[in-house]
Amino acid sequence: MSDRLPGFSTLAVHAGAQPDPTTGARATPIYQTTSFVFNDADHAASLFGLQAFGNIYTRIGNPTNAVLEERVAALEGGTAALAVASGHAAQVVVLQQLLQPGDEFIAARKLYGGSINQFTHAFKSFGWNVVWADPDDIASFERAVTPRTKAIFIESIANPAGSITDIEAISTVARKAGVPLIVDNTLASPYLIRPIDHGADIVVHSLTKFLGGHGNSLGGIIVDAGTFDWSTGGKYPMLSEPRPEYHGIRLQETFGNFAFAIACRVLGLRDLGPALSPFNAFMILTGIETLPLRMQKHCDNAKAVAEFLAGHPAVASVNYAGLASDKYNQLARKYAPRGAGAVFTFSLKGGYDAGVSLVSKLQLFSHLANVGDTRSLVIHPASTTHSQLDDAAKVKSGAGPDVVRLSVGIEDKEDLIADLEQALGA
Ligand SMILES: *Cc1c(COP(=O)(O)O)cnc(C)c1O
Repeated sequence: MSDRLPGFSTLAVHAGAQPDPTTGARATPIYQTTSFVFNDADHAASLFGLQAFGNIYTRIGNPTNAVLEERVAALEGGTAALAVASGHAAQVVVLQQLLQPGDEFIAARKLYGGSINQFTHAFKSFGWNVVWADPDDIASFERAVTPRTKAIFIESIANPAGSITDIEAISTVARKAGVPLIVDNTLASPYLIRPIDHGADIVVHSLTKFLGGHGNSLGGIIVDAGTFDWSTGGKYPMLSEPRPEYHGIRLQETFGNFAFAIACRVLGLRDLGPALSPFNAFMILTGIETLPLRMQKHCDNAKAVAEFLAGHPAVASVNYAGLASDKYNQLARKYAPRGAGAVFTFSLKGGYDAGVSLVSKLQLFSHLANVGDTRSLVIHPASTTHSQLDDAAKVKSGAGPDVVRLSVGIEDKEDLIADLEQALGA
């Protein structure tokens, strides 16, 4: 073996996995078991007291999930990771370690619609107050900082229009405020953007999308960059203060640069309970093996489709950061040189009726509310996900009556363009 470090595609296939020591199985087995036998009473006591690492119960950890955690940590360049049941579960578990009731976090206004709901309603009921900032105006993050701010939350490639966020600029604001920067990297995947390289302290994913990649399994993951000092200023007592449920140990002191991932597991996942099924971990691991191949094809197809739409007479405008004319093209060149992702919006000259007509005439694109599938997907937000908003609110959230969102799949691009052509023209 040479001593060169493995590249991204090698890690996508191998990181965290080895042949099963008992059976020789080459694929990672699905450890479909709730619990694990202790060696003896001392072993059991040390596992429960966090003095030894090992398996206890699948709500807290499972060997199939552990391979997934190690693999995504390697791909993102983090120190450790924790897999959970969904992207939304990842967001709850992360913020529960950081916020006490009455605290605040700053979030970019351009986010996945489900996250906007979660932050506005569910988190409010926990006493966690979201303060919105504009990812296109870095100073708006600075202005939003108060003594109660505990974190900043952004998306690397942001919903709904696939805009690119200036992660480094916002990480500078977070550093100055003394709070961690959390980046939702779902739409980019680590193949396109590695937020930790640009100053993120915590990365979260919906594994449901490009990482799993096949539209068949929900999952979420939290990656700890190992960069944040949780002990300063007494702001993060979950990490810096003695834990009564673990014989008074302090997590940062005991676990150093992976203390945050440990806190998410032994305080968040253990007590809140959103464990990932080992079967889903297996499906997502299989998906990740082909992440580099799929992502490149997604991006190449998306660019071809965006170029076709930009030249079509029925189309008013296309928002795709991979187009040279796009407002986010400079940021795309810096942060995502391999491609600007596969989720973007465009608007139709014919307005609402043209949007409804398009989704009903498309045959290869599936009309549904998801992204990051091998299959191409389409949605008309104004008549579906955003239909409850008034027209002004629709426009403000990037879901005006004329807007259509695509998630471009890995089919032949000629077939995708032919499908759009027949649906737009007819
Ligand atoms: C889908 C999605 C989520 C939520 O993930 P689930 O797995 O559906 O809970 C969060 N952020 C982004 C960007 C998403 O696309």
